[in-house]
Amino acid sequence: MLTGLLYHNDYLKHETGVMHPENPQRLSVIMKALKEAQWFSGLQHFQPESYDLKWIQTIHSENYIRRVKKSCLDGASTLDCPDVAICRASFEVACLAVNGCLTLADALMRGDIANGFAAVRPPGHHAGNHTAMGFCLFNNIAILARYLQNHYHLKKVFILDWDVHHGNGTQHAFEEDANVYYTSLHQYPFYPGSGHESERGQKEGLGTTLNIPMDAGAGDTEYKDAFEKKVLPAIGKFHPDIVLISAGFDAHRDDPLAEICLSTDMFGWMTSRICQKAEELCEGRILSVLEGGYNLDILGACVSAHVNMLQNRS
Ligand SMILES: [Zn+2]
Repeated sequence: MLTGLLYHNDYLKHETGVMHPENPQRLSVIMKALKEAQWFSGLQHFQPESYDLKWIQTIHSENYIRRVKKSCLDGASTLDCPDVAICRASFEVACLAVNGCLTLADALMRGDIANGFAAVRPPGHHAGNHTAMGFCLFNNIAILARYLQNHYHLKKVFILDWDVHHGNGTQHAFEEDANVYYTSLHQYPFYPGSGHESERGQKEGLGTTLNIPMDAGAGDTEYKDAFEKKVLPAIGKFHPDIVLISAGFDAHRDDPLAEICLSTDMFGWMTSRICQKAEELCEGRILSVLEGGYNLDILGACVSAHVNMLQNRS
């Protein structure tokens, strides 16, 4: 089976201004690194197809979606928070990011690919029902999870978020939902402030949220330990129909935005362990979506380690 890679040049049209860490160059260095890899031609390539806005509405209010569109078209430079920089094209690009994730889902559910990586921006895991936050407009991975449940009737979705920041938007979207398990490894205490281990879900969803806070300075050893003792047992116990990864690469030791110290190879290691588990439980079904990662010198290598391992296991 094949690994899918989803990308479109229009993702570069979401312009955030000079000096913004979440900039179009991120995707340029990622695609350059992937294209230089000798296994690049073995990937199955996809571009985003069109989808109804109703899928975005499974996570975001209609009012918020209208507000994002209007703010962009009106020429506003930020939305809701000073760090969410937007331009006139941002609404269209954010919709294209969601559509890219849904396109990969269709390919996987058709059986064309075993797993896939969506090289999209803007990222999504901080975006809430009615708020933009932390460089994020629409919560790509949360919308993807709902799409898989509502359109393909997959019952149980496991979301692993290894971006260095806690995915507060994703956690909140599913905290009362027993059929979507959200687990996050993140620096703590740190932006956005949430992600304490006492946050375990609410009501029906109590027990299907697992936060694994990490001290500044933690590295491969601490992450491997957390994987073996917490993440992998949690996947096994939940027995999902698919695993989604909020794949941020800002927990790398050279990332300028945080103080976690993962090696480049660690992104391959984590991918390999998750693939193994997904093979045992759900025919290896994994979809991975780009979140953060801000050091342009190492981002390409980190994503390559991740995608290469997806391909080795597909
Ligand atoms: Zn992040």
